[in-house]
Amino acid sequence: MKLTVLGKYGPYPKAGGATTSYLVECCGKKILLDAGSGSLSRVQQYCSLDDLDMIILTHLHSDHCADMFVLRYAPLKHPVPVYLPATPAWEHDTLCACERFKASNITEGLELAFPALKVSISFCQTLHPVECYAVKFRAEGKSFVFSGDSRYSDHLAGFCRDADVVMLDSGFLNEDHPQKILPHMTVGEAAQTAKTARAGKLFLTHINPTYCEQDLLREACAIFQDTIIVQEKTEYII
Ligand SMILES: [Zn+2]
Repeated sequence: MKLTVLGKYGPYPKAGGATTSYLVECCGKKILLDAGSGSLSRVQQYCSLDDLDMIILTHLHSDHCADMFVLRYAPLKHPVPVYLPATPAWEHDTLCACERFKASNITEGLELAFPALKVSISFCQTLHPVECYAVKFRAEGKSFVFSGDSRYSDHLAGFCRDADVVMLDSGFLNEDHPQKILPHMTVGEAAQTAKTARAGKLFLTHINPTYCEQDLLREACAIFQDTIIVQEKTEYII
């Protein structure tokens, strides 16, 4: 499996950056995983929009789906399958109304199996202010989980179990974790999730541009050593 990071920032990008979006390639298929701001331009540095076999939206917050509203205007040769949560209604219904998208709703426990390719894609609902799903890819003998957005959840840690790579929402430092409930994991919680799951590697993403990346990495590595912060326009082999 190949993971190309198109956008790693959230909830807004650094100058020259993009918000959450990745290109996942496995068994000859190209899957756009989230489509945050700036992603539509970035993905075309790697493939034509007509080459996309599927689009998965973990949730319908703008930093994960903004460019889908722009993709509506692109003259795609064939409708592209789009998997997305059923809510919030306005975002869902607007995207579903586009004839260039063949939309299907994601539900808890959904598994898309492609036996001929030996690929499966499964989903697990996360804890976030809007309906959101983590995604697990199994292909080419490897497994890879992307959390979407989530605060800490044992359910998510279970979903990540034994994955070769987990790429987790790392929106805050532990020091920013007061009594209130945050919409994202802290980096420490992401590292704890990877450790509990006995994952092979942890990729930190959803990076807030106000943070120093070294501070984020230090907090994670104290709990889970095999951690990196993903970098945009970079390819990772899983
Ligand atoms: Zn979100």
